[in-house]
Amino acid sequence: MEFDTVIHGGTLVTASETSKGDIGIRDGRIVALAESLPGGERRIDAGGRLVMPGGIEAHAHIAQESSSGIMGADDYLSGSISAAFGGNSSFIPFAAQHRGQSIDDVIATYDQRAARSVIDYSYHLIVTDPTAEVLEDQLPRAFKRGITSFKVFMTYDMMNIGDGGMLDILTVARAHGAITMVHAENNDMIKWMNKRLAAADLTEPKYHAISRPELAEEEAINRAVSLAKLVDAPLFIVHVSTAGGAAIVQREKLAGTRLFAETCPQYLALTREKLDQPGMEGAKFVCSPPLRDAETQEALWRHVQAGTFESVSSDHAPYRFDDTGKFMNGRDTPYPKIANGMPGIAARLPYLFSEGVVKGRISLNEFVALSSTNAAKTFGVTKKGGLAPGMDADIAIWNPEVTRNTTLADQHDNMDYTPFEGMELTGVPEIVLNRGAIIVEHGELKCQEGQGRFVPRAPVDLGKGRGYLAKELDPVRNFGARIAP
Ligand SMILES: [Zn+2]
Repeated sequence: MEFDTVIHGGTLVTASETSKGDIGIRDGRIVALAESLPGGERRIDAGGRLVMPGGIEAHAHIAQESSSGIMGADDYLSGSISAAFGGNSSFIPFAAQHRGQSIDDVIATYDQRAARSVIDYSYHLIVTDPTAEVLEDQLPRAFKRGITSFKVFMTYDMMNIGDGGMLDILTVARAHGAITMVHAENNDMIKWMNKRLAAADLTEPKYHAISRPELAEEEAINRAVSLAKLVDAPLFIVHVSTAGGAAIVQREKLAGTRLFAETCPQYLALTREKLDQPGMEGAKFVCSPPLRDAETQEALWRHVQAGTFESVSSDHAPYRFDDTGKFMNGRDTPYPKIANGMPGIAARLPYLFSEGVVKGRISLNEFVALSSTNAAKTFGVTKKGGLAPGMDADIAIWNPEVTRNTTLADQHDNMDYTPFEGMELTGVPEIVLNRGAIIVEHGELKCQEGQGRFVPRAPVDLGKGRGYLAKELDPVRNFGARIAP
């Protein structure tokens, strides 16, 4: 058998197994796994290295306008390059509908933007305007194209769709085999806090954390789960940042609810003290939900270890520390007007590897599950997230021994800061492949713009409903509306 590429002599790690061996690649796919494989037009020596499924970044904001109209700093070229330098072979950023836009137009716009990507991609649709047309025609069309997940917001006045809107979307999603993702924070609690803090003239960056209390997330997660249960729909809670929120997820999973969740490196690595710095330095650390305290970090790590979270995702939301980003409303702006979000697409996996695997909190196999395999399963990416014949040759080869201090230059994004600056991390992704093509190799970009392709995704496995929804109203179990995979 002839191979385009053979990866030779590495330690192969999947979500379930660790073994020594070679990988044979042809036409962008893995075609053979064996103790030793001959030949290969190109042979990559992976002695002393870990050979793992390339990361799948399931939460990133790339070439996306915020609801207030500012564009993030990374487009699909810089964002995908940064992702690849961080060990990712594919990613699923958001395609965001703003009110009044049709979903078809949104997808067409993002198709143009994403054509520059150097790694494979799909989108989660953000839905902010669930009109009858959107629910009945446009979302079903998006599903048929293989966009099988979308996100709704319980906060932000321009995005939040209310409980009734969520029930509508959850119901459509379930009928088509899609999964609904939710940013869960209580909008009214936060607005009330903002008003009180403003009245007391407490508007420096550090008050951002105080304005969005843990209770606001816990209440909203509980409500989101209740809404999803009412209509028997699967639900994915993004960026869980509180111990109370994680405990709800864990409890509901145990009760059989079709619930999925992620947390992010910033909630494991950074605390709200970062917001309390001289001048406006704290603006770099304004993200929502906000950074919490050291006790919460410990609790979240324990939930990572206990399997509460499917994934650790970056929530890469790149707003530069200048007037195009953080300070779009001026330098000395009160905290509610600072752009929300921080970058981290390249730092996600080096952080998780170093603080997780190297420090002994998680196994190598758990690292692969949290970085790649679970995202593939949850979001219907059927050909990625594993090392097996027939899978895409999306592979990251890591040197587990190298230690380096995190720098902005290592991130390869369009940002002017990294929130992880100076953090000492062990383990570096040295070579990253997407469908058999080398994307980055030893710190150098090796591919052309546009190497990435759109990945149509499969419907999610609906599993068994728990039977909360009145059967007269249940299209899945009574009217056969489910689309076959
Ligand atoms: Zn986000």
